[in-house]
Amino acid sequence: MHRRDSFRASKIMAERTLANPKIEVKWNSVIDEVLGNDTQGVAGVRIRGSVDANFTEELAATGYFCAIGHTPNTDFLKGQLALTDKKYIAWTTPHRTYTSVEGVFAAGDVADDYYRQAITAAGSGCQAALDAERWLALKGFE
Ligand SMILES: Cc1cc2nc3c(=O)[nH]c(=O)nc-3n(C[C@H](O)[C@H](O)[C@H](O)COP(=O)(O)OP(=O)(O)OC[C@H]3O[C@@H](n4cnc5c(N)ncnc54)[C@H](O)[C@@H]3O)c2cc1C
Repeated sequence: MHRRDSFRASKIMAERTLANPKIEVKWNSVIDEVLGNDTQGVAGVRIRGSVDANFTEELAATGYFCAIGHTPNTDFLKGQLALTDKKYIAWTTPHRTYTSVEGVFAAGDVADDYYRQAITAAGSGCQAALDAERWLALKGFE
């Protein structure tokens, strides 16, 4: 589902998507509702027109992946933590999860504009937990 009538992604990625026979693009559409229930899981989606709000269509599916843009959701941190020019939380020390505020540690995709993978996010989560534990110990907290 794509809410516009063309892709803004890089030309090569857009062409690969359009040339893939396993992918059908539904233009000018947004997800209205993921259909299904707790016992059977996802059964499909109902889509709605982004231009024609009266248009709806139900599509059968057994899975649902949502990918909307690459801008981190960090507006609420503005003025409180240093962010990079791409709005990711800035790590202030190499190989550490330290941020611009002492005692605040950042992990996962929100602080990583390069790898953005589950395993790297989980790894930096472990780093942040250790950094926090050591910081607390240094401050005398048990
Ligand atoms: C379609 C798709 C396919 C992917 N495939 C792969 C793959 O095959 N292999 C792989 O390794 N990685 C894959 N990834 C990347 C992987 O999902 C991410 O790297 C990983 O989920 C990052 O984990 P995270 O905990 O840092 O962030 P997230 O999983 O994004 O979790 C952040 C959480 O914070 C919540 N949140 C946001 N703002 C606030 C707020 N203000 N207050 C409270 N909570 C908030 C969000 O709702 C979310 O639950 C894929 C990603 C997408 C979108």
